[in-house]
Amino acid sequence: MNIEEILKNSKKIVITTHQSPDGDAIGSSLALCGYLVKKGFDVSVVVPDSFPKFLMWMIGAENVHVYDDDENVVKGLIREADLIFSLDYNDLKRVGAVGDLISKSTAYKAMIDHHLHPTDFADWICSDTSSCSTAQLIYNFIEDLNDLDLIDDQIAEGIYCGIMTDSGSFRFPSVQAKTHLIAADLINRGLNHSRIHELVHDVNTLPKLHLLGFALNEKLRVLPNVPVAVIAISWEELKQFNYKKGDTEGLVNYALSLEGIEIAAFIKGDDNKVKMSFRSKGDIAVNEFSSQNFSGGGHKNAAGGISFTSFEETVELFESKIVEFLK
Ligand code: 5GP
Ligand code: MN
Repeated sequence: MNIEEILKNSKKIVITTHQSPDGDAIGSSLALCGYLVKKGFDVSVVVPDSFPKFLMWMIGAENVHVYDDDENVVKGLIREADLIFSLDYNDLKRVGAVGDLISKSTAYKAMIDHHLHPTDFADWICSDTSSCSTAQLIYNFIEDLNDLDLIDDQIAEGIYCGIMTDSGSFRFPSVQAKTHLIAADLINRGLNHSRIHELVHDVNTLPKLHLLGFALNEKLRVLPNVPVAVIAISWEELKQFNYKKGDTEGLVNYALSLEGIEIAAFIKGDDNKVKMSFRSKGDIAVNEFSSQNFSGGGHKNAAGGISFTSFEETVELFESKIVEFLK
């Protein structure tokens, strides 16, 4: 079935996106939501857990349902949905408990995503791993349905925010000429692009910047004999800086920006797990490193993983595994 027919057979739509939602997850979800509402559907957006403060300004963000805060509401929405969109993730493991609800639901399932190796839980899959962001695919989706003229502020801001945050502000190799054409089209339609850069990037708090200073002064290390830089911060240290979700966003890029460094890792302690962010340059596939060693995945140059052993053990394990990986 093509997506037009699927939409014709649907009334209640739920849009879902991955845990620890980022700018692309929230941006593409709110953009698609805005579009489908304009087309007359009953649409809800569901996320597994809360999203950082620097995304709360987005139009429609206040209507997003967070599973961790409103489990029963989310269960009801998914139960009643006849179409469920999965945005910016390729595997139901990426949506935690929401994944079980989706897999049990009889609703039609549509995935729009740009991560490698999509799993086959969805009935309709739009997977383009060459796209810098899911938000770019949402623009294409609206374009394919000949509805670009429906783009309003919510849709334009969501698409732009998703593209901007997932492309490192239009600098990663994944940026295509089309990416810039989309940005140009959104600006032609009245988007204030510089406002979005400000709303996302110029909202640091003093504790967040102090944490950045601490990370760079005391935690950034270059491993001997390999082009690898690491920043590892324990949960106890994060708490000393009044850590809030999103406060370590982008930290890993400072490690990657060191001259000669090809792989950067940020290892973050948490209550009962350790989260890792990996970045690389050129042909080094950190998503493969992460899936082989830390139950993770992502993109070739930007991936993440998780470990349930202690923080100290995880740091040691990373250091030995990355040396092995580079051999
Ligand atoms: P970040 O380091 O910004 O959290 O994530 C970078 C990329 O890796 C994102 O595309 C994200 O979807 C992916 N990623 C992050 N954590 C995980 C994880 O635990 N598992 C998988 N499969 N992908 C992850
Ligand atoms: Mn994305």
